[in-house]
Amino acid sequence: MSINVLIVDDSGVMRAMILKSLHMSGLPLGEAHQAANGREGLDVLNQHWMDLVIVDINMPVMNGEEMIDSMKENPETRDIPIVVISTEGSKTRLEKLQQKGAAFIHKPFTPERIRDTIKDIMNLEG
Ligand SMILES: [Mg+2]
Repeated sequence: MSINVLIVDDSGVMRAMILKSLHMSGLPLGEAHQAANGREGLDVLNQHWMDLVIVDINMPVMNGEEMIDSMKENPETRDIPIVVISTEGSKTRLEKLQQKGAAFIHKPFTPERIRDTIKDIMNLEG
């Protein structure tokens, strides 16, 4: 199995860092797509089958929380595992995201943290 991943963050530098961490993680990566906000992310999901979505919270146009809500309303995207990577500090907001089934990683992050969180949320062995 290879993992097709969508990385959604308004910072191109952050998207590149996340992608680099994924490459370093040893996880079996398939296609990697990128989007700069939730709206663009949903457009990618309309066109490509993704196994995993990594999403920032604070973004212009459509933020990560709105994107996740929209994914949950669509039967085609409802069950895709979601990892939120953000500087978000509000506990209420994080608990809301966790109730929606998303895993959370704080920025700054280590490649190991990303790998372990993805393994956990996708039930991968090893
Ligand atoms: Mg951001």
